[in-house]
Amino acid sequence: MDITSEFKFYLNKLFPMNRSLTGEQNRETLKIIKDIIPIKVHEYSSGSKVFDWVIPEEWNVVEAWVKNSKGEKVIDFNNSNLHLVSYSEPIQKKVSLEELQKKLHFLEQIPEAIPYRTSYYSKDWGFCLSYNDYIGKVINNPGDFEIFIDCNFKKGGLSIGEILIPGRNQKEILISCYICHPSMANDSLSGVLITAFLARELLKIQKDLEHSYRIVFVPETIGAIAYSYYNLEKMRKIERGLVITTCGGKGRLGYKRAKDGDDFINQMTEDVFYENGDEFLTYDFDINGSDERQYSSIGIGINCVTITKDKYYEYNYYHTSLDNLDFVLPENLKKTFDRYLQLINKLDKNIVYTNLKPYGEIMLSKYNLFSGDGGSFLPSMKLTEKEIILWLMHLCDGEMPLYMIAKKINVKLEELYAIAKKLEMENILRVELDL
Ligand code: ZN
Repeated sequence: MDITSEFKFYLNKLFPMNRSLTGEQNRETLKIIKDIIPIKVHEYSSGSKVFDWVIPEEWNVVEAWVKNSKGEKVIDFNNSNLHLVSYSEPIQKKVSLEELQKKLHFLEQIPEAIPYRTSYYSKDWGFCLSYNDYIGKVINNPGDFEIFIDCNFKKGGLSIGEILIPGRNQKEILISCYICHPSMANDSLSGVLITAFLARELLKIQKDLEHSYRIVFVPETIGAIAYSYYNLEKMRKIERGLVITTCGGKGRLGYKRAKDGDDFINQMTEDVFYENGDEFLTYDFDINGSDERQYSSIGIGINCVTITKDKYYEYNYYHTSLDNLDFVLPENLKKTFDRYLQLINKLDKNIVYTNLKPYGEIMLSKYNLFSGDGGSFLPSMKLTEKEIILWLMHLCDGEMPLYMIAKKINVKLEELYAIAKKLEMENILRVELDL
């Protein structure tokens, strides 16, 4: 199966599930991800204090519906898990239209869409429905409604998935996505699938990796906070992060910039778009958003970017039932997947070398460095291979990363890396690990 077909297969498989902050369906989601990559699943116990937060009780739903006075179900969780406000309390009672209306959510401006609502941290209940159904099925009912929400809260666990892929350097790159959304495809399923398949690619090329990778599947906010709490020391080894979400829509590619606007990862992400000839949108760092809000906080301090294709907040179907499998196509996922893979490839090669022969120029002819005469121009470069070697000898001072050197002498990072690697083989350059 090619990767586009695999995206399709897993989109179909994972889309219907009722994910939330916690619960069996989150565990089931992680189990399905295990078919793609060997993640480890950790459970953080309900009630545990994690920084300023407490892990909530586990929530599972059996059924939920609203019946009209004729006994017909006018809203049914079985038809769409978005119908029930996530983390609703159990309830069974008769209510008047007026009482029910206070607990209903719909969108007049997109009348066919069911909105997505949560009530994680205040005990409440509610239903979501399309405005069309509200007008057609609810408003004209002459008598009372019967409400039934069969769900339970219990002391349990908040489930997260993790895979660590060690490379040559212990310095890590974080890749994080969130698994807490029920049936919506762009937010957050697109990010879950791209993350899983990126992890699989990294496993394939593990022996060549310069960096180590920490890849996590967590419920948004509380999951990222809990994960950071339990791994704080390790998180400090993280060099940069990718928070992967809303990346499979029909609209334009874009990216949310790192908290530090001058950080190289912003430029590096744009390089990927330019190399592909993509038009792209740019979003400055903002305190609203996804888990970069946690990872970039002062105490954790990781600069993260997010490559998007229809970013959260920006598309009409955001947090509605129309964020579905008509909106997110496997081909769109493949496009964003390729951009992420290219970005990771660049991040990985951005390492630091020290020149072991710093006194004057080396006698180039002594070494086995050139396939040709060394005067040949490389495809994308204005410099000859020999000139690039001499630049590396001048700039590899044990501090300047390869990406900075590449920008300074205007060559492609990947090609510079290939030449630096040859110098390493000849013991002319030494890689600086764990700076
Ligand atoms: Zn969301």
